[in-house]
Amino acid sequence: MLKELRAKLDNKEISAVQLTQHYLDAIKIKNPALNAYVNVTSDYALAAAAAADEVIAAGKQTMLTGIPYAVKDIYCVQGIESTGASNILKGYKPPYTATVIKRLPGAVLLGKTNSDEFAMGASTENSCFGPTLNPYDPTRVAGGSSGGSAAAVAADLAVFSFGSDTGGSVRQPASFCGIVGLRPTYGRISRYGVMPMASSMDTVGPFAKTVEDLALLLEQVAGFDPKDGVTSQQPVEQYSATVNQPVEKLRIGIVKEYFELEGLDPAIRQLTERVINQLATLGAEIVPLSLPHTKYAVPAYYVIVPSEVSSNLARFDGIRYGYRAPETADLLDVYTRSREQGFGDEAKRRIMIGTYALSAGYYDAYYAKAMKVRTLIRQDFVAAFKQVDVLLAPPCPGIAFKLGEKSDPIQMYLEDVFAAPASLAGLPGLVVPAGQVNQLPVGVQIMGPQLSEALILRVGRMIEGLPGQ
Ligand code: GLN
Repeated sequence: MLKELRAKLDNKEISAVQLTQHYLDAIKIKNPALNAYVNVTSDYALAAAAAADEVIAAGKQTMLTGIPYAVKDIYCVQGIESTGASNILKGYKPPYTATVIKRLPGAVLLGKTNSDEFAMGASTENSCFGPTLNPYDPTRVAGGSSGGSAAAVAADLAVFSFGSDTGGSVRQPASFCGIVGLRPTYGRISRYGVMPMASSMDTVGPFAKTVEDLALLLEQVAGFDPKDGVTSQQPVEQYSATVNQPVEKLRIGIVKEYFELEGLDPAIRQLTERVINQLATLGAEIVPLSLPHTKYAVPAYYVIVPSEVSSNLARFDGIRYGYRAPETADLLDVYTRSREQGFGDEAKRRIMIGTYALSAGYYDAYYAKAMKVRTLIRQDFVAAFKQVDVLLAPPCPGIAFKLGEKSDPIQMYLEDVFAAPASLAGLPGLVVPAGQVNQLPVGVQIMGPQLSEALILRVGRMIEGLPGQ
């Protein structure tokens, strides 16, 4: 898709301004029902497109010059309202721009997309802007927390988009919306300028229609950034040069604990098994194995994440950014009322749980213990990748659920069972469409060792090319 559009722009079959206008028109028609975008930056986009046309006229274009895209509202863009889908940041216009966005020279930002508040959730229902609806069925969610970014690509309201994945927020919405999405290795892409949720697991990742497009995007944005201290110094590979080469002698691990999970929809299990069988027919070796600490992943995740959230959200105090409660008695009252009025329920829940888990007397019992479990989970993966090249699993246990269906927070947290383990271990995960269940898209997840993006993209490309996909 990116390559075809590039050719059309370069051959002057279409101008960047025309292409951008086409997307803005589509957004005008479809977005009121979908609520994928929360802020459409039309003037900014048309100005960027006009500048892109000049670059193309001068023959100085690069891969993304003039290509329209969207970013989740947790990305800071200088001078453009960036709220993290939270009332506490309504009206906030950052004085700087996220590194990822700076690494997309010439691409045309169409606007900011919907998200759960500060990326906390799995349905985009925890947004101060209301939920994003699934483009395949408006009674269902688009997934979350990057639901707006996924729905925008699925509904052809952007060529590509960026979301974030702490514990599944790129992978699950990609599955629900029938597109491809990549959670990169922790530290592969800079998060500078992206609002933090749980800093030890936060990653930012692209959504697109094809695996090749993800490869092209990843090689643009990946790499060391002095402004994000955890970014890797490892050189960035030319993923697009290898993505179309099928992997020979591929060893695929099938995790027993994932397929035995009670809550796994049998139709999704079948669909995943079909993909596995098809890959076996192509010569892949299928290796059943065990990740014995899997059942502790969600509990550990929901101690570690709220702990980090309670610390990261401390900056929203009614003074430094965004919303300040209007009537207050003293400084403490400014803090408490601004936070009380500004944050939604899930943010408050996590702040309270996290503050408790980190407090003197409980730290060892909760936070420190969860960190030990995290090490065991990471070791499970290290052992697994001695036997196999990749793991294949569902991204989440079910299809896109109905709006309001998971009103119990624990139900919502269980959406993350197949995503949280790789997150705790810092591993990459790619989701590729694998078919449909009840006319709703379902993806399959490919996990690999750290910095194995080139490999998992190649495997994703193989799956994309399977008959029946
Ligand atoms: N559903 C998970 C959570 O609520 C994942 C969120 C994310 O990856 N940003 O924490």
